[in-house]
Amino acid sequence: MAEAEVDNVRVVVRCRPLSDQEVSEGYDSAVKVDAQNNSITVVNPSTSHNEPLKTFTFDAVFDADCDQMTVYNRAARSIVENVLQGYNGTIFAYGQTGTGKTHTMSGNGNDPAERGVIPNSFAHIFDHISKCQHDKTFLVRVSYLEIYNEEIRDLLAKDQSQHLEIKEQHGVGVYVRGLQNVTVSNADDMDRIMQLGNNNRSVGATNMNAKSSRSHAMFTVTIECSEESDGRKHLTQGKLHLVDLAGSERQSKTGSTGQRLKEASKINLSLSTLGNVISALVDAKSTHIPYRNSKLTRLLQDSLGGNSKTVMCACVGPASYNYDETISTLRYANRAKNIKNAARINEDPKDALLRKYQDEIELLKNQLENDEFSSGEEGEDDFDGGEVGGVHGRIRGKSGGGGGAYEDRIREMELDIAAKRAELEKQRGMTESERTKLRSDLAAKETELAKTRSEFEQLSAKLAQIEKKLIVGGENMLEKAQEQARLLDESNRELERAKQNETKLRKALESRHAERLDIEEKYNSLQEEASGKSKKLKKVWQMLNGSRAELNDLNAEHQREMEGLLDNVRQLKKELQLNMKVIDAYIPRDYLELIEKFVSWNDEVGEWQLKGIAYTGNNMRATKPIPPPFYRSESSQLQMLYSSYAETLGMVPSQAAKPPTQKLRLKSGKKERTAARLKALLD
Ligand code: ADP
Ligand code: MG
Repeated sequence: MAEAEVDNVRVVVRCRPLSDQEVSEGYDSAVKVDAQNNSITVVNPSTSHNEPLKTFTFDAVFDADCDQMTVYNRAARSIVENVLQGYNGTIFAYGQTGTGKTHTMSGNGNDPAERGVIPNSFAHIFDHISKCQHDKTFLVRVSYLEIYNEEIRDLLAKDQSQHLEIKEQHGVGVYVRGLQNVTVSNADDMDRIMQLGNNNRSVGATNMNAKSSRSHAMFTVTIECSEESDGRKHLTQGKLHLVDLAGSERQSKTGSTGQRLKEASKINLSLSTLGNVISALVDAKSTHIPYRNSKLTRLLQDSLGGNSKTVMCACVGPASYNYDETISTLRYANRAKNIKNAARINEDPKDALLRKYQDEIELLKNQLENDEFSSGEEGEDDFDGGEVGGVHGRIRGKSGGGGGAYEDRIREMELDIAAKRAELEKQRGMTESERTKLRSDLAAKETELAKTRSEFEQLSAKLAQIEKKLIVGGENMLEKAQEQARLLDESNRELERAKQNETKLRKALESRHAERLDIEEKYNSLQEEASGKSKKLKKVWQMLNGSRAELNDLNAEHQREMEGLLDNVRQLKKELQLNMKVIDAYIPRDYLELIEKFVSWNDEVGEWQLKGIAYTGNNMRATKPIPPPFYRSESSQLQMLYSSYAETLGMVPSQAAKPPTQKLRLKSGKKERTAARLKALLD
């Protein structure tokens, strides 16, 4: 196994420009970005001028003028390069709604200069492949999912109503069962798929903006590369997760009732669990990381504290009215800097498809050259999206087999048929029975030829289909993304030049600074010493004030968070009381005990599950009639009991529908008997 490289999560911050509306309303920018020192300073609009400014330092900071290409080259390029080498990589955008997460990850329009990290990564990946040697073969696949209300939806699936489950398998890790993994062979394909997913993101939303701000979107690119060295094929697999998170702002309390409240609490669950995971990872004392507490953190398990190179891009708005949220985002980002990951190159993982395809190609070529058939295994594993579908199993073995290559054999058969036909046409010196025999011989040969041809075509088509999925190093598959790749490359070279200049200047500045400090330290008189010490005292005093203000800020933030949580608890308690009322009024005690006995918490799905749920109340009415032999089974007895219970409670309407106002009647004697039978059966 390759050695792991321990790295901190890299954190970059991007501040968007003031919007036209903010400018017209007269807002000032409260955020100052110092690109030289990679720091960002925020001015609190509501406090006195004595309070020191809050400054945070990150791996990189981008101001309002920073273009998309620079953000890509400084924040994402190295991660994508790592993924091309076989590491896992994650780039995720965090921040308040409206601060530029989607602008950073997807960007807008068809203007190559305005496109975000995701489309730029397509151009980068295929540009890299086009510059590789021919001895490298690549397989690139993409998937796109959305987490909304703690439910996972495949944005590339035909049926958007299905919710998918998270699974874990040894050697594969955490994956989403049934998620489509689409093979792509050029940058334009990837782009089309991203657009398709983006369109699906908004389907069914009553308010598109509101929904996209409450859902997390995850675009994943899997890149497998096989290379021959030392007479052996080496296979690596890198997975790149590109995540546009839901808005990090606290959900407003107003209007959060019922369904809307449940929704809000579930969204908070994923984001607050993300916060808890980050806190636990950077706290030396913590022994448990709560990845399993939300869908988002389970999917990002490797990205945070695991086998991945990760960049977090925190987005902030500059206007003063965003102060609280901006500070909260910067604090969050500041904490994330301390997360340590241990990434390693993934060699020959269990879910790699490229090796399977290469074996398949070899087998098909063998079959075509040797005209031999062998039956292989059919079917695919659950996690790879099932694309091959067992080619060899469908082609039947031939009696007698053997012989030269397919094409030779077809040619031989054609010659043979032509000779027989010529003989038949001559017709001379042949009896009627000889002619009949020759004709039937000819017909049999023609059938065999047609069969052989169709097998040959089937094998060739299958071979072409699989070969089409693989991309050989050196092939140019950029197409329309050519311009994109050129811009990226140009911007990257410019950045490199600027970086070299900057390093030179920084060194000069540092040495001058050191000289000055030296001089300052040499006090010539007591007077100078006193003034030097007062200066130091003033600095320490400022630091103390700064820490006090920070402490007050933190306390206020905790207080706000606590109030939010208490509010949630109060609302949930209210709902719980309503549910208890319904249960007390309508569900007999012994049934309740039975239900409690047979209900269990399913951690995988995150819900309570009841044994025999298909045979209860509302489900019963939707159930199709069960065929007679099934009536003897335990399940059908359960069904009958449940139905009898439902009838007892008046839950199942009789043939003629009763008006909805009718009171539920409890026939107590019958109820008890049914309960006893149900209990005996379940015991
Ligand atoms: P989010 O996804 O965080 O809710 P968006 O990406 O939708 O935010 O950005 C909100 C608005 O601000 C959009 O109109 C977007 O075009 C604009 N915007 C965001 N970041 C920038 C930027 N760096 N430069 C110019 N416009 C930006
Ligand atoms: Mg967005």
